[in-house]
Formats: sequence, structure tokens, C-alpha cells
Amino acid sequence: MSSIFTKIINREIPSDIVYETNDIIVIKDINPQAKIHLLIIPKKHIETIDHLEETDKSLIADMFFVAKKVAFDLGVTWWYKLHFNVWKAWWQEVMHLHLHLLSNI
Ligand code: 5GP
Repeated sequence: MSSIFTKIINREIPSDIVYETNDIIVIKDINPQAKIHLLIIPKKHIETIDHLEETDKSLIADMFFVAKKVAFDLGVTWWYKLHFNVWKAWWQEVMHLHLHLLSNI
């Protein structure tokens, strides 16, 4: 299954890419809710946290290390919020797992 984020990862639609590894891409949110609003997205299509498998453990850990790195690079260390929305529990618009990083610094 594909998603809008898969299209971004495959460069089928444009986005403002902040950082990228073999497994993860970081883009600016198209509708920012803070001065800095980034999305940390695994390239593997995982719909929600509910769909995580044991084999995804290191990928999820890497998402947090990428969050730490981009926060450091942007100079917002200690001043940012990370959150996941999970479908049904809270509104998740894009069914492709992503970690929001927000800062008003
Ligand atoms: P969710 O509600 O699923 O946790 O958040 C999805 C986020 O993706 C929203 O903040 C929304 O603004 C962002 N978004 C949706 N479509 C696009 C897009 O095509 N490009 C970018 N850069 N962000 C998007």
C-alpha cells in the first residue's frame, strides 16, 4: 500500500527535505503548527503504531536518534515536542507512521 509520504520519499511529489538516511526522511510539514514543524518518517510503509512488528524496533529507535540530531542541528535542543498521532485514539491524517517534531524557538 502507498501513501502521500511514500510519494514524497520516491520524489513523485515535492517536499522540503531537511535530512535523510537510508531508512528515514525528515521533511517540513506543509501546514506547520509551530515555527518549526518537522515530520520524521520511516521509508518503510507502516500504517500506525498498531502495525509495528518486532523487527521494526531498531527503525523506531533510529527515528528518535534522528529527531535528536535534527533538533540539535536546528539549535532547539531542550525546546521541542515530539508526538505520534494514532488513528482512532487521536486524529491521524496520513496513514504512514510519522513522528512530529515541533518547536517555537
Ligand atoms: P497526522 O495528523 O497524520 O499525524 O499528521 C499528518 C501531517 O502531515 C499533518 O501535519 C499535515 O500537515 C502533513 N502533511 C499532509 N500532507 C502533506 C504533504 O503532502 N507534504 C507535507 N510536507 N506534509 C503533509
